[in-house]
Amino acid sequence: MSKPTNIDMQQVWQQDKDHYIHPWTDFSTFKETGSMVLADSDNVHVIDGDGNRYLDGIGGLWCVNIGYGNEEMAEAIAQQIRTIPYYSCFGHHTTVPAAQLAAKLAELAPGNLNHVFYGCGGSVANDTAVRMIHFYFNQLGKKSKKQIISRIDGYHGSTYMAMSITGVKFDHIGFDIEEKMVHHISCPNPYRRPADQSLEDFCDQKVQELEDKILELGPDNVAAFFAEPIMGAGGVIVPPEGYHKRTLDVCRKYGVLYVSDEVVTAFGRLGHMFASEDEFDFVPDIITCAKGLTSGYLPLGATIISDDIYEVISKPQADGAIFTHGFTYSGHPVSCAAGLKNIEIMERIQLCNHVRDMGSYFENQLKTLLDLPIVGDVRGRKFMMCIENVANKETKELIAPEAKVGNRIAEHCQARGLIVRPLAHMNVLSPPLTLTKEHIDFLVATLRESIEVTIEDLRRDGFL
Ligand code: PLP
Repeated sequence: MSKPTNIDMQQVWQQDKDHYIHPWTDFSTFKETGSMVLADSDNVHVIDGDGNRYLDGIGGLWCVNIGYGNEEMAEAIAQQIRTIPYYSCFGHHTTVPAAQLAAKLAELAPGNLNHVFYGCGGSVANDTAVRMIHFYFNQLGKKSKKQIISRIDGYHGSTYMAMSITGVKFDHIGFDIEEKMVHHISCPNPYRRPADQSLEDFCDQKVQELEDKILELGPDNVAAFFAEPIMGAGGVIVPPEGYHKRTLDVCRKYGVLYVSDEVVTAFGRLGHMFASEDEFDFVPDIITCAKGLTSGYLPLGATIISDDIYEVISKPQADGAIFTHGFTYSGHPVSCAAGLKNIEIMERIQLCNHVRDMGSYFENQLKTLLDLPIVGDVRGRKFMMCIENVANKETKELIAPEAKVGNRIAEHCQARGLIVRPLAHMNVLSPPLTLTKEHIDFLVATLRESIEVTIEDLRRDGFL
């Protein structure tokens, strides 16, 4: 199928700048620079409006797991549109892909997580989890059990509730959040622990903090704990060994539900379809996922709940009341067809095995950057990685925020044909999972050169 070629990209850039309110945008610079128009794509590359090619080190936004331009996926989507493009799943209607994908997710999800609710993305999957959990405790007659605990630097989305559960303080500036219902405990970031504290003691302290918070609020008031297996947008933070299992034990002790936010970590990014059990050895009560579920080809999110929760929420209510939660696009057949095809492709080409092999190479190659004078930490797992830049590697002191070191590195990378994501003083990497050794070598060499040039810039500008 041919791609459009006669588009005036300068006009597109102008239209965008004049009329499109971009998500997560710094308007102080946007109003001058506008946005880079991405016009084409191919496996791990994207191509801008001027025809420049970039290796996409961030998979769009932790997304394009099977790579760009997959024709089989395009055909599956087109085929579903020809068959039945939409039908509501409210009440007693369904479609073939919605049912088949739910069964497939139940097969892939750990433990007895066998029931799937669909929305359009990760934020909605988390909002749905909150509403279901509240409904669950109401059905059980435990009406006071409503409080949510999450972590500083956890990211759970941008709807009102998901942003309230999010603990990245920067993201709350200038907005309001729900403060009465949500409580944040500290972030289990091993890199930032006190220099004289062992990892074991650090883990003990973080687990204890959860228990203390539940006791402070009262176990009868606490409904759920939300956590990402590896914190993504908060800086790719891998908690110490055993943290998830032990926090789950604390939750079980007090009848608190554990929601594992796998919006980034599911569908191969860590080399497994789901990371909670396969990578971190614990089975939560609820998993939320999105992004890699369709490789970002179409919007889709899912809230996957246990048999035990389903048993309670599916009980008939008094007075003819029903389960009043859902969206026009819950179980959208075209998105679900994309999800099914995505999983079929991933299984057929054994993408998780590829990530386990190539992801280790990626981790090791990125760690070679630690010899650079501002690279304080290279962390993450497999195809979910982060570089933390600092002014002093001994003290871990940060470079002044005005230096925008993450942005500078990203800009130098972009000028060299590589897209990496700036996140304050860090740079995040979450490439398509089809990345090969050659791509990794290019990516790491380009990052090295870009960080070296950035160091020169920072010295010139008096930041180092
Ligand atoms: N949860 C996590 C861990 C995420 O990283 C994100 C988005 O990046 C979300 C939830 C929100 O997902 P969405 O942007 O699809 O609403």
